[in-house]
Amino acid sequence: MSRRAALPRRPVADSSPIGYLPPGDPTTLLTRDRRERWRDSLERGRPLDVLVVGGGITGAGVALDAASRGLRVALVERDDLASGTSRWSSKLVHGGLRYLASGQVGVAWESARERAVLSGVVAPHLIRALPQVLPFSDAPDEPNRRLVRGGLTAADVLRAAARTPRGMLPRARPLDPAEAIALVPSLSVDRVRGAMVVWDCQLEDDARLVVSVARTAAGYGAAILTRTEVLSIAAGEAVLRDAIDGSTYGVRATHIVNATGAWADELDDSVQLVPSRGSHVVVRSERLGDPQAALTVPVPGTTGRYVFALPQSEGLTFIGLTDVAMTGPVPRVPTATQEEVDWILATISPWLAEGLTRDDVIGSFAGVRPLAAPADDASSTTGADLSRRHVVRDHGDGRITVTGGKLTTYRRMAQDVVDLITDAPCRTTHIALVGAGPVHDPAPSGPPIPQRLVRRYGAEAGVVWALGELHPQLRAPIADGVAVRGVELAFGVQAEGALDVADLLQRRTRPWPVPADAARAAAQAEAVATSCC
Ligand SMILES: Cc1cc2nc3c(=O)[nH]c(=O)nc-3n(C[C@H](O)[C@H](O)[C@H](O)COP(=O)(O)OP(=O)(O)OC[C@H]3O[C@@H](n4cnc5c(N)ncnc54)[C@H](O)[C@@H]3O)c2cc1C
Repeated sequence: MSRRAALPRRPVADSSPIGYLPPGDPTTLLTRDRRERWRDSLERGRPLDVLVVGGGITGAGVALDAASRGLRVALVERDDLASGTSRWSSKLVHGGLRYLASGQVGVAWESARERAVLSGVVAPHLIRALPQVLPFSDAPDEPNRRLVRGGLTAADVLRAAARTPRGMLPRARPLDPAEAIALVPSLSVDRVRGAMVVWDCQLEDDARLVVSVARTAAGYGAAILTRTEVLSIAAGEAVLRDAIDGSTYGVRATHIVNATGAWADELDDSVQLVPSRGSHVVVRSERLGDPQAALTVPVPGTTGRYVFALPQSEGLTFIGLTDVAMTGPVPRVPTATQEEVDWILATISPWLAEGLTRDDVIGSFAGVRPLAAPADDASSTTGADLSRRHVVRDHGDGRITVTGGKLTTYRRMAQDVVDLITDAPCRTTHIALVGAGPVHDPAPSGPPIPQRLVRRYGAEAGVVWALGELHPQLRAPIADGVAVRGVELAFGVQAEGALDVADLLQRRTRPWPVPADAARAAAQAEAVATSCC
């Protein structure tokens, strides 16, 4: 097969102001067959314009940006899409309020702008507004209270400047204790003297965002290969290992982008990272009185540091997060320590009528922030402080490393990288991801599409639901107490590049934060993975 046939390109000229890909568009499907063809073309074809290493949000974003500018692109990931930090985030698409607190106005502005692009154009189906309650107690909180009010005014100015409509993110306002408790019923009546309610954005699922970006990149012609580890990078070439058949092969590429997050220094020892672990605990939302808003409480003895209780869609609340400096090699799956769990519980509990204990914790997860150390050579970077700002390093020989940043700003990070590669203009502010757009129901007279599918698949929910037409049993939840439906597993295998049970349960459908739920789901996931793969 010719390389051109194996790596199709989508026409770059796009007459519509916003580029939508139709639900289930075959060019976006990540199937086992396509993986084999892509693998073949990588090994035998002519050189790539861009090889992207790392299938987290940063790498997927770079692949989409580069492919949509007409470049010949492949993304390789050693495990699965979103198998690193990008699936362990707090799932906030935030406007940078916390950066304002530390005076990082530039970082906050970039966040506010990217929040507007993501929630307005790129991924509105995966993003929703989230009210957050910031309670106040007595006098010792006074400095924090003033800081918060000042920060909120500035955040609202950034929101307006970024053109996020007030209808989506209303202006922050004070609440009396009764109003605060109505939103977060578990708040302590004795402690809360007042509160502010603040609006920001929340992602339905960070791993689904990564998969959607990768599929959209495939729609614009990028090859997406998981289970493909880069063993070494040099100018113009990389050595890859295919974890499926164990073979090793070389790939030539004019540009190689190291987007391996907290592991970036393993491929390039000139990269300096300051890894820091952030952990969350998982509790049942009913334990917090089924809150209608997030709860944000200050960390005692700090200014501008908070612990968040973030309600999720299906009865779970994530509470975090810690900030623990790490030394030594970064594990592939970091875990929360008991000390971190206790610290989170001890920080939030004084604000609750009934404090949380270890018995309330039904799961936990941790990720490592790929924070970039300050660059020693400012001329070779586009960001330069030890903050959540990203750093793009052009090695001058075709290798580019991108570190730091955050989920919220992935699109801008990708733009900064690809601007170093081509003069063609960036288009991603106008590219909607697969799943954005109105829900398409191929069988409107059949049973209604469950809301869970609409929240997680957007416009493609009908395509996913239709997989149960011939096999109605796939429409049922896969286990008692688990919201995942069989059609999601089938779609994960047929369209989203899932290659095994871990891909299905930990990245595509995610009963994972609760080990007991994941265990109950495993048998069914195994059956689907075996029959569909
Ligand atoms: C606890 C926590 C909470 C956070 N919360 C938020 C939040 O709410 N909002 C927000 O905007 N940001 C948040 N962030 C930041 C955000 O999650 C990260 O900045 C972002 O996910 C990093 O993505 P990445 O693609 O750079 O890294 P990763 O997602 O880690 O991706 C790197 C990938 O590279 C792969 N890889 C590594 N080595 C190789 C190799 N040799 N060959 C091939 N592949 C390789 C890995 O397997 C991995 O999949 C949070 C971060 C943490 C840690």
